[in-house]
Amino acid sequence: MSVTITIQNNIKYVDANCPEKIKTTTYECMCRQFEDDPFDSECPYCKGTGADKFKDYPFEMNISNSNFSAFWSSLGLDVDWCGEVNPNRVLNILRTYDPDLAARAQSTEKSKNGALFVDCGLSALRSETYYKYFLEIADEAARREEMIIWH
Ligand SMILES: [Zn+2]
Repeated sequence: MSVTITIQNNIKYVDANCPEKIKTTTYECMCRQFEDDPFDSECPYCKGTGADKFKDYPFEMNISNSNFSAFWSSLGLDVDWCGEVNPNRVLNILRTYDPDLAARAQSTEKSKNGALFVDCGLSALRSETYYKYFLEIADEAARREEMIIWH
């Protein structure tokens, strides 16, 4: 499970104004069962070509639910699984933000019935990466006068 953080109307904006920033990654389509089988000509993803194209839009970040909680609470934002926030509020927060605050140690816990829970934690480096990327999103959202949204 993950959370996507982006700018309101981002896809529409990028398609209309800067389509060159979209990265297209091509995966082999999953519509055939065996390697020697032909691809399905009626497949909605590849239409028989075998190439499943995935568009990667700029100003979008995907982070795991647990890292999202850590990152969002370190920013002082409400941890909810979807919402919107004004980019100027975010820029104000980020001006004095210390990405080390979001870093969490890796932990392994055992529950009473013996089940093992492994939390991979959030490294200081990854937290720094989130911070830099989120700052880019916030700057761009403020420039476009759109809200930052997450879901
Ligand atoms: Zn296919």
